[in-house]
Amino acid sequence: MTGPDLARLDGRQLTGITCARCGRRLGARARRHGPPVRDDRGREYQLWRCLEACVSR
Ligand SMILES: [Zn+2]
Repeated sequence: MTGPDLARLDGRQLTGITCARCGRRLGARARRHGPPVRDDRGREYQLWRCLEACVSR
């Protein structure tokens, strides 16, 4: 199983401002989206997602 595709995420998703799955703004109601992931430059990101079920798009 592979991790999230970082190339498909924008900067706000990578920094936890918006949901890594559906792109909605998170605010205080969020949870970690799996363990930290690294891009091909070795930078580490903790992705976040909605506390409730995401709306897939
Ligand atoms: Zn979401």
